[in-house]
Amino acid sequence: MTTIGNRLQDILATIHSITSVNQGRPVNQCNQPVQLLAVSKAQTSQAIREAYFAGQTRFGENYLQEALDKQTQLNDLAIEWHFIGPIQSNKTQLIAQNFAWVHSVDRLKIAQRLNDARPPDIAPLQVCIQVNTSNELSKSGVSQGELVALAAAIVKMPRLKLRGLMSIPEPSKDYNKQRSQFKQVRECYDALLAQGFALDTLSIGMSDDYQAAIEEGSTIVRIGSALFGTRAISNKSLAP
Ligand SMILES: *Cc1c(COP(=O)(O)O)cnc(C)c1O
Repeated sequence: MTTIGNRLQDILATIHSITSVNQGRPVNQCNQPVQLLAVSKAQTSQAIREAYFAGQTRFGENYLQEALDKQTQLNDLAIEWHFIGPIQSNKTQLIAQNFAWVHSVDRLKIAQRLNDARPPDIAPLQVCIQVNTSNELSKSGVSQGELVALAAAIVKMPRLKLRGLMSIPEPSKDYNKQRSQFKQVRECYDALLAQGFALDTLSIGMSDDYQAAIEEGSTIVRIGSALFGTRAISNKSLAP
């Protein structure tokens, strides 16, 4: 097996062990298993191909042009593409046309444009609202105060399907801090459920904190470097 294949098996085993040992963790409504989204930004198409043939079918990309190039190179594979990066309004059309999911919807204008551009002959675009629980002005994501209004607007859009929330908390090496940050996202999610929104997705957890995220009820972990190793493509736009 390849290195990527080995790492994939290790990550899946870790996910499995957390979910089976801790039956008491908060579970999502549908009680579905935690899914792995392989974050392939700055990785080569060859690395994606390797992960695909080791069994991984969902891949997340942050930069539109890079993603479109890889989609062309990998169009022989049945990959489910997720867009997880910041969205500029002039990119919404191509995003709506070329992805199954978008995790990073953070304002009404972007949601409306994605809805309007989603082709009628394919399934609605599956979306998560990116929420920023720390309310730092510099980070993307809606504040908790703006969340309900945006969710209410999105569920009225026929070409979008609201699935849940995504968040990128401040990185921390401290497990308890990781847990408490994810718990805040989880509480936003629970509040929306309590208000009648039908959600099934909590997209939280990356290479360094996915175990804490799963303990707090993650349903999709987005993992890049722990699967692929250090990012390979040098790309100025990847900074910081
Ligand atoms: C890069 C990125 C990830 C993966 O980060 P790793 O630390 O490499 O696992 C997950 N989510 C988003 C939004 C990212 O930009």
